[in-house]
Amino acid sequence: MHPCMNCGACCATYRVAFHWIETIHGPVGPGVPETLTQPLDAHRLVMVGTKSSPVRCVALTGHVGGCTTCRIYDRRPSVCREVMAAGENGVPSDQCDRARAAHGLAPLTRADWQAHEKAVISRLAPSRRDAPTNESPSRRRRARPA
Ligand code: SF4
Ligand code: SF4
Repeated sequence: MHPCMNCGACCATYRVAFHWIETIHGPVGPGVPETLTQPLDAHRLVMVGTKSSPVRCVALTGHVGGCTTCRIYDRRPSVCREVMAAGENGVPSDQCDRARAAHGLAPLTRADWQAHEKAVISRLAPSRRDAPTNESPSRRRRARPA
C-alpha cells in the first residue's frame, strides 16, 4: 500500500486553494467538483474544510494516520497533485514531513518505501515480476490496491 493511503495528514493540515478555472476542467477530464469548494477571493476557491482551523478537506475519507483516500482523486486540484510524499523518487518533502508531524506521525523513511515496493512486487504475477515497466511511482500514488 502506498504510504499516502495510511496517512492523509496533508489533507487535514493545509489550506487547499486554487484558481476557479480548475472547476471547469482538470488535466485529464472534468475539474474539481464545484459543490466541494467555497470562495476564497475574487479569483480563487478553497476546498471546503480547509479555509480555517481545524483543517480537514471535505473530500478526505477515513482517519488520518489510518486508512484514507481522496474521493475526488482523479479530479483533485493542482496543489494536491504537487504535494509529494517525502522520499518518493528519493526527493525530500518538508510539506509532507510537517503535515505528518502535525498529526503525531513520524516522517516517512526508507523502510516505508521498501515495504511499499515489496507489496507492489508481491502483487505482480510471477511472469511480470522482472518485466520492465513505464509506471512511475507518482502514477501509482494512492491507487487502490489490487
Ligand atoms: S504526501 Fe505525506 S502528508 Fe500527504 S498523505 Fe502522503 S504521506 Fe501523508
Ligand atoms: S482534494 Fe483530495 S488530495 Fe486534495 S486535500 Fe482534499 S482529500 Fe486531499
